[in-house]
Amino acid sequence: MTQPRVLVTGAGGFIGHHLVSYLKQQGYWVRGIDIKRPEFSDSDADEFELLDLRRWDNCLQATRAVDEVYALAADMGGMGFISAHHAEILRNNALINIHTLEAARANGVGRYFYTSSACVYPEYRQTEANVIPLKEEDAYPAQPQDAYGWEKLVIERLCLHYREDYGLETRIVRFHNIFGPQGTWEGGREKAPAAMCRKVAMAKFTGNPEIEVWGDGEQTRSFCYIDDCVTGIYKLMRSDYAEPLNLGQDRLVTINELADMVASIAGVRIEKRHVPGPQGVRGRNSDNSRLRQVLGWEPQITLEEGLARTYAWIEAQVRGRLELGAQPMPVQFPILRTCP
Ligand code: NAD
Repeated sequence: MTQPRVLVTGAGGFIGHHLVSYLKQQGYWVRGIDIKRPEFSDSDADEFELLDLRRWDNCLQATRAVDEVYALAADMGGMGFISAHHAEILRNNALINIHTLEAARANGVGRYFYTSSACVYPEYRQTEANVIPLKEEDAYPAQPQDAYGWEKLVIERLCLHYREDYGLETRIVRFHNIFGPQGTWEGGREKAPAAMCRKVAMAKFTGNPEIEVWGDGEQTRSFCYIDDCVTGIYKLMRSDYAEPLNLGQDRLVTINELADMVASIAGVRIEKRHVPGPQGVRGRNSDNSRLRQVLGWEPQITLEEGLARTYAWIEAQVRGRLELGAQPMPVQFPILRTCP
């Protein structure tokens, strides 16, 4: 049997980079595409090309001679980024996804994996910290908080229609806050777990226990470790389930609790200073009933275990930076809106 050939877009990014390694371990020939190379270690891809997937001709080139596509490329970041760049995110991501999907069809790709997000869920279901976990059907009537979520909803529909109209086997996942080593940890695009690990590591190395938390820190989320994420991606791709599916943990924690967990892992005493900042929705959790039913599986790695592995990696990054005599890049964001 010939080796199956797959394309991973966004292969220079956090999840895409881990997914390439996972797919290589499963025996695939892998092409990685991104506008940048992975920042922290070399890609395991058989072929890695730098292409801007907003352009149709580049999408045709990227999807040539592959059996399957995992579409992870996106202009994205944590709350500070996605709440302040609506036009740019909607334009860039719509161009990337519309062109990549159509190029895959034109090139005769058999199976296509689209990475959507918990950000598709409506604001009105996420107004309490003690939120009811979100089921897949709760996405409608639609009212995502940000342009990022609106674009994801539209491309989910596009994938469903490509399957119905053209027979391209599309699979759609909605991630809930994926974290782990080799993710962005500074500069403004990092997510809460990475930002917290960086702040706690700085507290450890500088001896200043004060760390900033955006808002009152009582906003809640669930967090899923990267190894579970790539396992879930693969299981869903191989399944026959074509509707959108949640992929995340269903353990709800506040951002204050997250900070305390990281501090305890680091063995550091911290003092939280609550400052204005973008917080996203008040609470968000994944209902994993359908995930369990469809895949017979759900994420296995505890938050404590995942944070311990992530903290160790980010602490090493921060130490390396300080040894060079530099500071981690401060997070900057324009506060354009307050949270509902
Ligand atoms: P990431 O930002 O680390 O990776 C995305 C990659 O896409 C980046 O390397 C970026 O350079 C690349 N990219 C951006 N514009 C491009 C372009 N024009 N052409 C080619 N490549 C381009 O993000 P991630 O966390 O790895 O996310 C992967 C996917 O999962 C994205 O679609 C994201 O929206 C989705 N997602 C992630 C999370 C999460 O918690 N990480 C949650 C929900 C959804």
